[in-house]
Amino acid sequence: MSEPLAMKPKPKFRDSAAVVLIRGEGARLDTFWVLRSDAVSVQPGFRAFIGGKVDAGDADLPMDGVPELAGATSEAQLFERASRACAIRESFEETGVLLGLIGPAPDAATLAALWEDVREERRRFADVVAERGWRFDARALVPAGRWQTPAFAPVRFDTLFFVARVPPGQEPSVVEGELASGEWVKPLDALDRYRHGHETFAAPILWNLIALAEGEHALAERLAMGPQRSATPFKRIELQWGVVLHPMRTKPLPPATHTNAFLIGESEMMLLDPGSDDPGELAQLFTAIDALAAEGRKLALVVLTHHHSDHTAGAKACRERYGARVVGHRLLGERMALDLAVKDGDWLPLVPGIGDWNMQVLHTPGHTQDSISLWHPRTRTLFCGDLIPGGPGSVIIDPPDGDMGAYLGSLARVAALAPRTIFPAHGSPQGAAVKRIHKMIAHRKEREALVLAALDANARPAAALLEQSYPDTPRELWAYAERSLLAHLLLLERDGRAVRSGDAWSTSPR
Ligand SMILES: [Zn+2]
Repeated sequence: MSEPLAMKPKPKFRDSAAVVLIRGEGARLDTFWVLRSDAVSVQPGFRAFIGGKVDAGDADLPMDGVPELAGATSEAQLFERASRACAIRESFEETGVLLGLIGPAPDAATLAALWEDVREERRRFADVVAERGWRFDARALVPAGRWQTPAFAPVRFDTLFFVARVPPGQEPSVVEGELASGEWVKPLDALDRYRHGHETFAAPILWNLIALAEGEHALAERLAMGPQRSATPFKRIELQWGVVLHPMRTKPLPPATHTNAFLIGESEMMLLDPGSDDPGELAQLFTAIDALAAEGRKLALVVLTHHHSDHTAGAKACRERYGARVVGHRLLGERMALDLAVKDGDWLPLVPGIGDWNMQVLHTPGHTQDSISLWHPRTRTLFCGDLIPGGPGSVIIDPPDGDMGAYLGSLARVAALAPRTIFPAHGSPQGAAVKRIHKMIAHRKEREALVLAALDANARPAAALLEQSYPDTPRELWAYAERSLLAHLLLLERDGRAVRSGDAWSTSPR
């Protein structure tokens, strides 16, 4: 009962499509990528290619050119057909580029006006298509691999990628909204920016860029190989260069099923939060560590963010196998053997690679007293353990180890650092995180107001306040919610706004 309290059911895969838009050739080959805005819930602040979720209407887009899709009946064919249509629609909605139109395109001014209508949601793309009698040639999109979001993420996508050449006379542009910006980039420049820690993106972007950087020969085939290449010799999730996310199956609260272990560094590595001692899970972790060691990344430290077993269970095995030193807060040292006990402000240096890997320890209590986060100033990256969840829901604060006042203080402190990227122990990494942290603080304040409103002059046990103070929480999670409720009550008591007598709570008579 120590893990993020997720309040929403686990979603299935969401069908989606992405377009690797290209122009030029040879050394002058460019690809168009976008920066996702702070406002989106999935991968805010990350680089991406254009694309999005398949709409119900996509299946009806008039499309020629791929006969086997015309009379599609199998699930796979229907998915491919809808994905191609989705790719055409998303390209137009997000960048104004109309792919695969059969026959003459409208003049630039007309096309721009139609784009604005669709972008501003005055008209649906499908309605514009019907009105203009447009048909599309599906061959404008060349299949370039199918990617599925790994299991650690609370929102998972099943995405067909396509490569497409920008039609002559058209130029993509991005109007700020869900996307912050878009630009043409040379694949090698994009990879260079990534390796210097300036860009964050998911595995499909990385492997598409690598394939593009290798040139145009058999490009679609090599793009399609991306998922396989990214999984050999282990499933490599490296959203920032030098930060490998290795999800381990653990036993946190539903719907979370994994703890994200991180292998951080370019020459020397630290392993953060190996949360399982299951032999199968450890074997996969060792495969990852050994593969990275073969590249010259040697495991030096095992760092534990706090004492909960889904963060620490694998530490002993890693210490034994690799001789790595186990590091944690000095309060963690009162619960288990550490080779190095650290405190707030200490630095954990690793041998540098392209850049430095000096990580600063921040004592960030609240979820537990011994909770630490790691701060990497060069890339403005925060490894936050269970301080911030990587998805919907909120972290359980379980007194007396959990402390709401300390928790809110820790959130405010890390927000003030203005991290660019957050790597949480559960769920998905997040870019553009400051806004989200402020939202989390506001959410706790709202909850506090509900708790305060539930209190009256009659002393009642905390459980009697649940219905009114956690109306949005499913009943099966009330046992967890009650712990966080107690944490709020204890903070209100400390502030003189609630009174406790035995196990019962009432408003302060003052
Ligand atoms: Zn925890």
